[in-house]
Amino acid sequence: MRPRALPALALGLVLLVTACGEAGKSPDQAAASPSVSASPSPVTKPSPTPTVTPRKPKLRPVPKKLPAGLHRASGSSGVALTFDDGPDPRYTPQILAQLRAARVTATFCVVGQQAKRYPELVARIVREGHQLCNHSWHHDVNLGRRSATEIRADLERTNDAIRAAAPKAPITWFRQPGGRWTAEEIVVARQMGLRPLHWSVDPQDWDHPPAKTIIKRVKGATRNGSIVLMHDAGGDRAQTMAACRHLIPDLKRRYGIAPLP
Ligand SMILES: [Zn+2]
Repeated sequence: MRPRALPALALGLVLLVTACGEAGKSPDQAAASPSVSASPSPVTKPSPTPTVTPRKPKLRPVPKKLPAGLHRASGSSGVALTFDDGPDPRYTPQILAQLRAARVTATFCVVGQQAKRYPELVARIVREGHQLCNHSWHHDVNLGRRSATEIRADLERTNDAIRAAAPKAPITWFRQPGGRWTAEEIVVARQMGLRPLHWSVDPQDWDHPPAKTIIKRVKGATRNGSIVLMHDAGGDRAQTMAACRHLIPDLKRRYGIAPLP
């Protein structure tokens, strides 16, 4: 490998880690952002003495099959649109404008760090009639593998950031980054009043396919009642934006676009 290829490879890895992806296809790293440590919870960690290497916490395995109880259908004949990993100052306003022009609403699965950084965008999402979904504090694809205490702390921290931006907005849903669900985290989410939101159509737009490929994948897989996963943040989303300019009116005409229940 030539030295010049290294920066591009590193950038590619960062972008991959930040995307939702499909279960089993995302990289296994815990941290979405290099600026944040993998484990945000100060609650359960004993302070290590300087001479002892801190033990890595044991992570429970991700089950081979998705656990029971996930919402994978819109609950009506219409299609539900979900946009993950934002809010993002470049792309979230573009999607909001598209949704407004089509007179439909969607669900935004927001990352806590992003909500804290861009509270005005969270408020705008709510003001324009869309729903919010908790997508963890820093897109931790291993969140479901951690202790119940850590999971709860992460989800509460994210809810707090959302509420600081939009105090009256209900936070109905939680979506595990990468779709790497565990039964244990579904229990914690439900205890907090968060319903576990999966998807049924994943065009893998996080992997930067061209817009025409995103369109083809969504159109080929969508049925009545589908939940479509796309991304308005986490990297260059120009192709998703272009695809949505076609997909949003098309899905509305063919199935109707419905909010989640
Ligand atoms: Zn995600």
